[in-house]
Amino acid sequence: MTQAVKIPIGISRCLLGENVRYNGDHKHNRFCTSVLSDYFDFVPTCPEVEIGMSVPRKPIRLVDFGNDIRAVESDDPSKDYSIPLQQKGHDYATGNNDICGFIATPNSPSCGVFGVKLYLPNGNPINKTEGLFARALRRANPLLPIEESGRLNDAGLRENFIVRVFTLYRWKQMLESGLSAAALVDFHSRNKYLVMSRNYEAYKTLGRMVARLDKPDLKKTADTYIETLMAALAVPPKRGSQCNVLQHLMGYLKHELSGRDKQELLASIEDYRKGIIPLIVPIALLRHHFEKEAEQHTYPLQQHYLAPYPHELGLRSHVH
Ligand code: SF4
Repeated sequence: MTQAVKIPIGISRCLLGENVRYNGDHKHNRFCTSVLSDYFDFVPTCPEVEIGMSVPRKPIRLVDFGNDIRAVESDDPSKDYSIPLQQKGHDYATGNNDICGFIATPNSPSCGVFGVKLYLPNGNPINKTEGLFARALRRANPLLPIEESGRLNDAGLRENFIVRVFTLYRWKQMLESGLSAAALVDFHSRNKYLVMSRNYEAYKTLGRMVARLDKPDLKKTADTYIETLMAALAVPPKRGSQCNVLQHLMGYLKHELSGRDKQELLASIEDYRKGIIPLIVPIALLRHHFEKEAEQHTYPLQQHYLAPYPHELGLRSHVH
């Protein structure tokens, strides 16, 4: 199924199957082009080509020169692309401030985010770091969820990335409709259980923030709010915290569940806790009970926790 309005997200161009790598090859990622493309409008970039490097070209690598990490040609360190790559990251971020996420190619000294090899000037590998384009992008747009294509094979990391993209998108939509105290309270109200499932401390902090919106500087509070929320969502949820949220939500049904329904729901939460069934099972049961009396359950039903992204993505259908 295709989403009516697609969310703009950035992507390393070689993941789309374009032959822009140093060796003239690509890194086509089918999950991106066959599944995510139904929901996301890709804003591709190949920083190396866009700063004027040819295809094919000599490979570059990151070298630690003591007080500076530079991207230089592997067999000729005098060819240094560090400044244009960092400038590209900054320009891409500022020129595309509507994007709600970025999917990067792993191990690239430009686009890689985690675990890019770092070398000493003598050629010995010493550490892992992030690519220079990715670093500049992250610094220029700290709210942006950035994930590597390889890590999207992990069901938990994949779901967490998609949750963050949709959350940032909803935030931008809220700002577009006009920031007001009421809009921020409503946004928070819908995200309460989502953040509770990730970080209980952040949940309390955000609650205190929206309880004091009479302060004159609403924009400043909103900036702090979204920074805190996105930082909290960056860490994937633990099974125990998910169970805690499921039980909280079950509390909204305490007067109407039959003994048998209650046992069934509790058993599904317990089976999820043990890793026997996926999260979607207790969530689907909760939704089913809320929807039976939908008018009475508008509050739990509006929780993004229950449907943070289109269910066709099926991201909670894995046991992980
Ligand atoms: S990893 Fe980045 S710089 Fe390298 S080919 Fe892909 S898009 Fe271009």
